[in-house]
Amino acid sequence: MKKIITTLIAVIAMVSGVYFFLNTRQSTTPVEAEIDGKLHVVTTNSILEDMVRNVGKDRIQLYSIVKRGTDPHEYEPQPTDVSEASDADIIFHNGLNLETGGNGWFTKLVETSHKKFGREVFSASENVEAKHLTTNVNEDDPHAWLDLANGIKYVEEITKVMKQKDKKNADFYQANADEYIAKLNKLHRNAQSKFLDIPENQRLLVTSEGAFKYFSEAYHVKPAYIWEINTEAQGTPEQMKAVLAKINKTKVKHLFVESSVSPKSMDKVTKETGLEIYSKVFTDSLAQEGQVGDTYYSMMKWNIDQIYDGLTK
Ligand SMILES: [Zn+2]
Repeated sequence: MKKIITTLIAVIAMVSGVYFFLNTRQSTTPVEAEIDGKLHVVTTNSILEDMVRNVGKDRIQLYSIVKRGTDPHEYEPQPTDVSEASDADIIFHNGLNLETGGNGWFTKLVETSHKKFGREVFSASENVEAKHLTTNVNEDDPHAWLDLANGIKYVEEITKVMKQKDKKNADFYQANADEYIAKLNKLHRNAQSKFLDIPENQRLLVTSEGAFKYFSEAYHVKPAYIWEINTEAQGTPEQMKAVLAKINKTKVKHLFVESSVSPKSMDKVTKETGLEIYSKVFTDSLAQEGQVGDTYYSMMKWNIDQIYDGLTK
């Protein structure tokens, strides 16, 4: 009994602590923003977060909703997300059918935080030419950023919106964006010809989710996947059969698995084919800060290098 009471007291203390913390956050955040005058930007995921950081550097206040290593397709907003979104001057989302799991978690968050698309809420993929899902041609495939040329379009759109909302820092944002885009463009150009020396029957990129449509077209590899998008059933017998048939038609040397997806299904493919998983690749999320793949540039460089090595070794 004594133990139960002690536990109860601990739980009550914790809950009131969290309540107090949330309350103080809500009341101090806008005041802080007014004092330091920084543009308050919110992003839905870590890839957009990193792009915005490269443009705004230390002159913005930045918060990202879906944490690193977590799937941004399906998400349940937390109280902190709502308070941050309510205070935001700008909210960037990917668009293209990314943040649509759970009957549109992001649209619900926009409503709850009293924001409006086109007023504070902007899609980073605004100027990207969308590819469609093969299983449902009416739906967009969200993974446009895996082609660096599209990533550059994201950065351009982000910069345009930030300049409009914060005119006094417009030159600063543009200069940062120019430098960042030049760096991304160099990586893109190198990747465009990198894979061409691999024999075509070895150039199959096998992943769990079909996230590599845009990447495959830009860098000349063929995509194969178990399921097409994380919002659908993952690893059904039919899906397994289809991917094994594709693999068996080629001389591919390795498989890959995404950092934000369970490796269970790909492990099954390993057992069926005898092919090993060469490494993880980054699709929908960056790595934790301080680790390889913790920026958009670093994740793309990692993907390009690892995929090349895994298809040739
Ligand atoms: Zn995805």
